[in-house]
Amino acid sequence: MLNQLDQLEREALAQLAEAGDAAALEAWRVTYLGKKSRLMTILGDLGKLPPAERPAIGRRGNEVKRALEAAYAERVAALKQEELERSLTAAPLDVTLPGRPVEIGRLHPVTQTLREIYAVCAEMGFQVYRSREVETDEMNFQLLNIPPHHPARDMWSTFYTTVPGVILRTHTSPGQIRVMRAYCPEPIRVILPGMCYRYEQITARSEIQFTQVEGLAVGRHITMADLKGTLVEFARRMFGADRRYRFRASYFPFTEPSAEMDIECVICDGKGCPVCKYTGWVEILGAGMVHPVVLRNGGYDPDVYSGYAWGMGPQRITMLRYQINDIRYFWENDLRFLEQF
Ligand SMILES: [Zn+2]
Repeated sequence: MLNQLDQLEREALAQLAEAGDAAALEAWRVTYLGKKSRLMTILGDLGKLPPAERPAIGRRGNEVKRALEAAYAERVAALKQEELERSLTAAPLDVTLPGRPVEIGRLHPVTQTLREIYAVCAEMGFQVYRSREVETDEMNFQLLNIPPHHPARDMWSTFYTTVPGVILRTHTSPGQIRVMRAYCPEPIRVILPGMCYRYEQITARSEIQFTQVEGLAVGRHITMADLKGTLVEFARRMFGADRRYRFRASYFPFTEPSAEMDIECVICDGKGCPVCKYTGWVEILGAGMVHPVVLRNGGYDPDVYSGYAWGMGPQRITMLRYQINDIRYFWENDLRFLEQF
């Protein structure tokens, strides 16, 4: 029996030296150290031996078991080391490879235009006033001189919430009432930027959601000449000092008199092209003197105070400047579009 153990040990160690990978090692472990291996069978059957032989066989059996376990652990470690060395020499890590560049984000083209508008208006003394996007019918229409059933409401179909009288604002103008009520009777010079909503068919020219920015000045002795002077200066700074402009009479319920301002087409320099419909002019904003009813609703006595307001669409201005022919690009989140700005 002792001879058998000696032989078993020699055989096992010889086999172990030849086990060259993880699978062979595992097979070796099952064969020589597994529950059904010869060694375990001998150790398990000690009780069947004559009592005189048991101590010597038991001691030797355990010696062999420990020797095999130690040899096995050593072999596993050695194989791991070999594998590591092989992987390091076969595919060396090249630390000089340049890293993958991280994409740098940028501002949305409309945000860029808005910031330019902020900068130009700030130089002229206008500060930004932020107003809410969810409004009441009263603020959005009635206080701006658009009573229920007024035909002008046709120009501003909107989204109604489930709360009666609460709507998504159709223009930034309700902010005029809010800022007047907040500052009355102080003079006001603000711009009101933000998102507006209209219930419209989405086409290349109209969206249900768009940005507007509106300007408002209220104080004593403000005249149409101030309105024109401010807007001409704004257009010069925004579109260039040499660009021609013109005012046309218009109608808005909340201004009187009302006007629209055109500039010489930035695409064709006034020669005529599809963008300006071959007129050489493109409309950039609507404006007017604040209607006395609106002034009164804001808390200002129209016999003492006067003011002017104007409003424009940064999307539209961005479209003009970059010859974008479809307003839907702004919300499509297509990087091929956005990365051009
Ligand atoms: Zn043109």
